[in-house]
Amino acid sequence: GFRMGIVGLPNVGKSTLFNALTRTAAAQAANFPFCTIEPNVGEVAVPDARLDTLAEIAGSKQVIPARMTFVDIAGLVRGASRGEGLGNQFLANIRECDAIAHVLRCFEDGDITHVEGRIDPVADAETIETELMLADMDSIERRLANLSRKLKGGDKEAADQDRLLRLAQTALNEGRPARTIAVSEDDQKAWRMLQLLTAKPVLYVCNVEESAAAEGNGESARVAEMAARQGAGTVVISARIEEEISQLDAEESAMFLSEMGLEEAGLDRLIRAGYELLGLQTYFTVGPKEARAWTIHKGMLAPQAAGVIHGDFEKGFIRAETVAYADYVAGKGEAGAKEAGKFRVEGKTYEVKDGDVLHFLFNG
Ligand code: GDP
Repeated sequence: GFRMGIVGLPNVGKSTLFNALTRTAAAQAANFPFCTIEPNVGEVAVPDARLDTLAEIAGSKQVIPARMTFVDIAGLVRGASRGEGLGNQFLANIRECDAIAHVLRCFEDGDITHVEGRIDPVADAETIETELMLADMDSIERRLANLSRKLKGGDKEAADQDRLLRLAQTALNEGRPARTIAVSEDDQKAWRMLQLLTAKPVLYVCNVEESAAAEGNGESARVAEMAARQGAGTVVISARIEEEISQLDAEESAMFLSEMGLEEAGLDRLIRAGYELLGLQTYFTVGPKEARAWTIHKGMLAPQAAGVIHGDFEKGFIRAETVAYADYVAGKGEAGAKEAGKFRVEGKTYEVKDGDVLHFLFNG
């Protein structure tokens, strides 16, 4: 599944948010209990009302939502790239994540110490980014040194790595994170393998006081401006509110949210923003046994999408039968959608759309 690493300076609300996210009613309402993989790793259900609708129409016995993993990465402080705080351990944790949720303290509270002694989320973002950039520069230098022997041997893979590492090095030396580099389609795989920390997509999570949860505040507005310049995402959240919601059942939490002027819980917004940032979308498989949501990258073709279920589905792919979510609902199920002529047979070049209901036919 997809992993989102939660980073930020100490005392910005990371743990509060992580605990709330992984204990919330939405996570529990799913048919699997929230599972703690490690104390700081939690898996949550991706909330999607469409899945419940499909399950109801098909009378599916089980509903299996898509999942997303959150990792609470503590120990990131000024000087971390030189081994301060938890040093290298957290860098390794970030390396394994697909994206970074960077929590920024946008709330005032005299009782809660700010490590830098002032509220300035834009400066905090720079502090953390600087550590990540220094860590990248360090690892690039080491890797370039290791590559030099292979290069002399004429290793093509090593040559590609060397070229990409030097591109990243130039950007970092100019003070730009690696994610600002436009990488060609052909280089994407080698680029991802480099696992540079500053190449990962970033979502800024502005932790604001309860009263600003709906609209945000001045600080979160500054963060949003910075994010727009960087091509990063922003979400405004009150970790305190999320903490309260996580202790309520679904009905109570809906009431609480509307009292606070919020349309949906922070978990939903955070996950949606994460999906957007990572270029992810959902398709469904629906039957009497189960209704299930699957996560894929936008632009994936039918065989690759089938491969998310099982590698054999991709290898032996013959064709896909598909109907759009809205057509499935309008037809009150598969039979109705078929009668309305909304069922299509698609081949290997079909690009799966968000909300597609799919059946795969394959050679097993
Ligand atoms: P972490 O070090 O980033 O994991 O921060 P914690 O989640 O442990 O939070 C540090 C302190 O800030 C705790 O006492 C939280 O209760 C408090 N805190 C977290 N979010 C908020 C918030 O939105 N408003 C206020 N006033 N306090 C908060």
